[in-house]
Amino acid sequence: MSISFRTDSKKEKAFRDEVKSWIANTLPDDLRGWSTRPPFHRAIWWHRQLHTKGWIAPAWPKCYGGMEATLNQQIILKEELARAGAPEISAQGINHVGPILMQFGSEGQRERYLPPILTGDETWCQGYSEPGAGSDLANLRTRAEIYDGELIINGSKIWTTWAQHSDWIYALVRSDPDAPRKQAGISFVLVDLKTPGIDIRPIKTIAGDEEFAEVFFQDVHVPIENVVGELNDGWRVANALLAHERLGTANPQLLFEALDRVKKVAKTTGAIKDPYFRERLAETDIDTVGFAAMFAHAAEIANAERSLGLDASVMKIHGTEILQRICDLLLEAAGTNASILERIETDDGPVEIAPLFLQVRRATIYGGSSEIQRNIISKRILGLPT
Ligand SMILES: Cc1cc2nc3c(=O)[nH]c(=O)nc-3n(C[C@H](O)[C@H](O)[C@H](O)COP(=O)(O)OP(=O)(O)OC[C@H]3O[C@@H](n4cnc5c(N)ncnc54)[C@H](O)[C@@H]3O)c2cc1C
Repeated sequence: MSISFRTDSKKEKAFRDEVKSWIANTLPDDLRGWSTRPPFHRAIWWHRQLHTKGWIAPAWPKCYGGMEATLNQQIILKEELARAGAPEISAQGINHVGPILMQFGSEGQRERYLPPILTGDETWCQGYSEPGAGSDLANLRTRAEIYDGELIINGSKIWTTWAQHSDWIYALVRSDPDAPRKQAGISFVLVDLKTPGIDIRPIKTIAGDEEFAEVFFQDVHVPIENVVGELNDGWRVANALLAHERLGTANPQLLFEALDRVKKVAKTTGAIKDPYFRERLAETDIDTVGFAAMFAHAAEIANAERSLGLDASVMKIHGTEILQRICDLLLEAAGTNASILERIETDDGPVEIAPLFLQVRRATIYGGSSEIQRNIISKRILGLPT
């Protein structure tokens, strides 16, 4: 199910049909409906299928090997992939560092790094957070000393998604500890994870998978050419990237898919007969439709202005908090079955309960927590006193 706030033109309908039939023929059953990430080699396999088809980077310009799709084509692709339960592609290369290199990188950096992102030959991870520098990211302490044309990096990063599977990390490092403001003196640097002195230790999540890792740097030598933008100007680059990240977390079709799960389960267990449950389900359904309208509007702004800026914070809060409410209802609908990690049988097929519920807890934390997004809105959109 879904409600769209735009109607496909004849050409778009043809594109949607092509996407649907390609997915039906290409995406195997074992890659559908994962609540957690599928095993890395399977995810990369899927990445390569999308690349071969020419659909891996819908928003990238053609000159960099992208699809240069219209906004509506991008939405159609997102919708159909979510509807089919396709696994999400690791966002760090295609959605994050790729666009950043196009905006801030040198010609040489673009030539070197963009092609293997597209093919899936090189996987990227994001090294922003540190123990003591998450919400207050500017507090980061990983140090980069400049010596003889190289940065020498010491420190550590944490919560680095899929670091253990990645080839490269884009990291924020403190390159000028004497800068007057803590936001100054930070550089955005590209680091080959095979460089001597790097140690990666995976962390198990509440959902049972090893989604992220700690990354330790001890005297790691990185050529100064790997700095993106100006040395000590990494804060500007990092913030441009966070706006991309916040919009990327909001895909209304994922919410509609989760709502469908709730309805299937509630019909099977009888929870749907409870008027109080139905009232909250209807309320959440209406909020999801409202969110889909907001998303369509935000996507148009993002397309026209290249970046959503502060609106990305509103989208992030709204999308992730509705998703959590849907998963609370899922748990309630499942009743005692909710404690089971395996899929449960419903009259409309098997449905995963606990893994999805556990998986979405994180959504209001990563990419900047809900509390931090509310601070941004109160200060920078509403102009409230701090
Ligand atoms: C699934 C997942 C994947 C992630 N992947 C990555 C990754 O790939 N790379 C990366 O660099 N990081 C990643 N992160 C880290 C993420 O960006 C941080 O967890 C997040 O920024 C919050 O920082 P923290 O965990 O240090 O919490 P803290 O900053 O310690 O916050 C703890 C709590 O205090 C609240 N809080 C803090 N400051 C304020 C304030 N000023 N006002 C009100 N409330 C406040 C927060 O909202 C939160 O509830 C990931 C996190 C998750 C959950």
